[in-house]
Amino acid sequence: MDIQCESCQKNFIADETPKRGAICFGCHIRTVRLGFTYGKQDFHGPTIRERQQKQLADAVAGGINAEPVTNWM
Ligand SMILES: [Zn+2]
Repeated sequence: MDIQCESCQKNFIADETPKRGAICFGCHIRTVRLGFTYGKQDFHGPTIRERQQKQLADAVAGGINAEPVTNWM
């Protein structure tokens, strides 16, 4: 059957509407590549675990700084 791509409006032939929707293979591959690029950027950037550890370190540092004040009072 002839399907019109929702993304680029080009017609493409497929046995049935793909599970990904009316998206031609070219647009689908582009989406996959885009996802891969974003994944790579996230991999090189700080991970969620590193961000959590940073928050914990800040909290500990804040606690240590606050402690002498509490003892002084
Ligand atoms: Zn397309």
